[in-house]
Amino acid sequence: MSDQPVHRADLRIDVGAIRHNVRVLSARARESGARTMTIVKSDGYGHGAVTVGRAALESGADCLGVASPGEALQLRAAGITAPVFCWLYVVDEDFAPMIAEDVELSASSLEVLQRIEAAATAQDRIARVHLKIDTGLSRSGCPAELWPALVEAAAKAEADGHVEVVAVWSHLACADELDHPSIEEQAERFRRAHEQARAAGLNPIRHLANSAAVLTRPDLHFELVRPGIAVYGLDPVPQDGDHGLRPAMTFRSSVALTKRIAAGESVSYGHTWTAERATGLALVPVGYADGVPRTLSGRMSVWLAGRRRPVVGRVCMDQLVVDCGDDEVREGDEVLLFGPGDRGEPTAAEWAEEIGTIHYEIVTGMYRPRVTRTV
Ligand code: PLP
Repeated sequence: MSDQPVHRADLRIDVGAIRHNVRVLSARARESGARTMTIVKSDGYGHGAVTVGRAALESGADCLGVASPGEALQLRAAGITAPVFCWLYVVDEDFAPMIAEDVELSASSLEVLQRIEAAATAQDRIARVHLKIDTGLSRSGCPAELWPALVEAAAKAEADGHVEVVAVWSHLACADELDHPSIEEQAERFRRAHEQARAAGLNPIRHLANSAAVLTRPDLHFELVRPGIAVYGLDPVPQDGDHGLRPAMTFRSSVALTKRIAAGESVSYGHTWTAERATGLALVPVGYADGVPRTLSGRMSVWLAGRRRPVVGRVCMDQLVVDCGDDEVREGDEVLLFGPGDRGEPTAAEWAEEIGTIHYEIVTGMYRPRVTRTV
């Protein structure tokens, strides 16, 4: 058996694919005159925020976006000096560390705006603020009826010298459903909110488009786009055709043990699978603790020794079993659980479809304590 710990459970990140995808997305944005903010929240959708952030900035992205303050500060601590935008806070968020690191901040309410202004004033710095309007997603974002007061207050804060309002922004609810009526409704509310900001004396840029809108709605690119999932090569709108994206994550392991069982013998907990004839089995040392959904039991295959082979019986916490028939499979052979699919292996999108979720959830959940990540 080969002694390569990296092969136990390894996420191989293809940085070349990330670069390619960023080039594809920023080229589309540029065609509409827009810049690109690459979204690297949730540790770069499981791919590594710093690795992805650096690669994106070298490949055409203008800035980076993350959800939480810790993620923004992690990028700064790694030496990334490009603009970083952060939008999601807890109730009593301390804005001082982000202002000290020139992180751009979202404000959806008067209260947050005032607290950002106070923190910037205390440091005698200028906080760069993106005002968020709720156009229909009903998550964060200022409700339309409170927007006029927010933009008036933001204009006053800007005049007072410690706040610069750089953008008005919002987020789409159904951009992956190409003709969903909410897209037009949200876009219309967004345009109106921007006009109100301008009428209050502000001069912000606009950003609204996630990956789906970058790929399908050039009319909604405005001055900046915010692609996430497509950066990682996973297409949110495959129904729109092939966008030439390359999946960047491959999940690999290797065969830890091979054995033969006789016809009539059963495999794994609950004996849910019984061999109809004598067959060879390969034990792979990854399980649901390593990100293989247990709900894929009996419904998944892996790429092993030149072809797809079924995983039989239940996926366990630490291991799963592959039926190899009479083929020669050796201990130490590489096992591809999912990848771009170009060698015939399953894809993250296939896993997602099989268990009724989205590929976002698969890749963001893969990096775990026993799993290595290599580039
Ligand atoms: N902008 C915001 C505010 C987000 O929350 C996300 C991700 O959910 C994105 C942009 C990127 O979206 P997507 O991954 O669908 O491109």
